[in-house]
Amino acid sequence: LVSREVKPEDTQLRVGDLTIGGASFHVIAGPCSVESREQILSTAHAVKKAGATMLRGGAFKPRTSPYEFQGLKGDGLALLMEARKETGLLVTTEVKDTATLDAVDEATDILQIGARNMQNFSLLEAVGERRKPVLLKRGMSATIKELLMAAEYIVARGNTQVILCERGIRTFETMTRNTLDLNAVPMLKQLSHLPVFVDPSHGIGVRKAVPAMMRAAVAVGADGIIVEVHPDPPRAKSDGAQSLDFPEFEKSMHEVRAIARAM
Ligand code: PEP
Ligand code: MN
Repeated sequence: LVSREVKPEDTQLRVGDLTIGGASFHVIAGPCSVESREQILSTAHAVKKAGATMLRGGAFKPRTSPYEFQGLKGDGLALLMEARKETGLLVTTEVKDTATLDAVDEATDILQIGARNMQNFSLLEAVGERRKPVLLKRGMSATIKELLMAAEYIVARGNTQVILCERGIRTFETMTRNTLDLNAVPMLKQLSHLPVFVDPSHGIGVRKAVPAMMRAAVAVGADGIIVEVHPDPPRAKSDGAQSLDFPEFEKSMHEVRAIARAM
């Protein structure tokens, strides 16, 4: 169902009053985790001013260690709703399991499936039953075909609104957190009609190098990007090492827009 062979034209998703896919380019920006009212609201205003159309922020965080910050959970969702109301930005947050799906569904405009859950088939089936757009992130060791098959699980249940997201894969390289597989973008666009986003933050994991990968994502033909932005990256509770501060984000947005216009 996700193949270009069965549907040659690009799928365009309606999220609020935005159209994702086709000729448009969208930027989802915000902190890795929602940490406080002040943090999420200031970030929402800053990214909106810089041109982002959607806000990200983790509430239920799938951390590698059980002793790391696990997110504000329900309180984080409430803060995202407040930020949405105050700024008009659409919001996305990760849905970590089926137990919290109802709560996350109610609070967000796009359901994010994280890399660690790309092959959580019961979660894929559960979001497939919803009628809300899903941003499906590629597993860190998943092939392009496995990503497409994970999307197939969602679409097979009737939810056709899926965005594929390249977020870096594990390779032998240790200098960067992951290796952003830009190859995946033209391959996915060729193989599937679904929109394709890129996450340059998790893709490279190095703050100073994120803007270059933002620009690369536009140039390679992605339909949008999802970027981590924090008011004070060194003090972030998660992923500070790859988060842009407000001036860095604003500067990158000018570059991204210039490349998007030239395409
Ligand atoms: C995130 O978006 O903060 C996140 C946990 O991403 P991923 O699932 O790609 O690791
Ligand atoms: Mn993160």
